[in-house]
Amino acid sequence: MPIPLPSGKGGWVGLVVALLVALAGGGLGLNAATNDDGGGDNTALEQKCSAENALDQLDCRNTLYVNSIQAYWQTALPEAFGKAYQPSDTVIFSSAVSTGCGSADSGVGPFYCPADDHVYIDLTFYEVLAQQLGASGEFAQPYVLAHEYGHHVQDLLGTEAQVRRQQQRDPNNANELSVRMELQADCYAGAWAKNAVGTTDASGQKIFTSISQQDIQEGLDTAASIGDDTIQKKSGGRIDESSFTHGTSEQRQRWFRAGYDSGDPTSCNTFSGPI
Ligand SMILES: [Zn+2]
Repeated sequence: MPIPLPSGKGGWVGLVVALLVALAGGGLGLNAATNDDGGGDNTALEQKCSAENALDQLDCRNTLYVNSIQAYWQTALPEAFGKAYQPSDTVIFSSAVSTGCGSADSGVGPFYCPADDHVYIDLTFYEVLAQQLGASGEFAQPYVLAHEYGHHVQDLLGTEAQVRRQQQRDPNNANELSVRMELQADCYAGAWAKNAVGTTDASGQKIFTSISQQDIQEGLDTAASIGDDTIQKKSGGRIDESSFTHGTSEQRQRWFRAGYDSGDPTSCNTFSGPI
């Protein structure tokens, strides 16, 4: 499910350059030696991302984040749930893209499409996060991607299909079920964050050299800034709990933290008990 954006989202074209400059000095410990796309099916990106200073490039950094997230699930999914992981590509697009779930423009924010098993992101979304929602920390980016891969994991585990069926049977609880599914994706993102420094590329090189408490705090700040209540406030709306589909800022932070503290995705049961 896409992360909703505040209404009135004009004005972020042309800010990418500023963002890249800001990122170049970022504190997140990434290993430049691991900087290829890992899939071998995108030669142009691979070449670009193996060049010197590739870590200054937003798409190369995001490729590393995706590689780390998928390396984590490659091990964690069979360990935790006895299920093999199937890799899912992230499609980086600008302005508009056609997907197995219909066409989308960058206004929808990043999303996972269960019909074609891809994560879609327009990197200008990070501008919206930084400029309009106030989540300017570098760790906002891997957090957002890890959340979307959380949906891919839910798809692989059958959780997504179960929730859809349950929503059809019980439309009055459809929104609460969506919130629970979103919070589980946040918890899965936290479980990845805890284990991210242990992830390696195909040649065994560590992808992250370090993740600091500051980085985790940035993940938590991002979770807070894209809670439905915060987005409603920023877009001038009244907070209406019945229209929430992702959870409040506080809920999103709590479940990211729960996944991070346990480092274990089996602890991410958001479908029973209070959230
Ligand atoms: Zn989501």
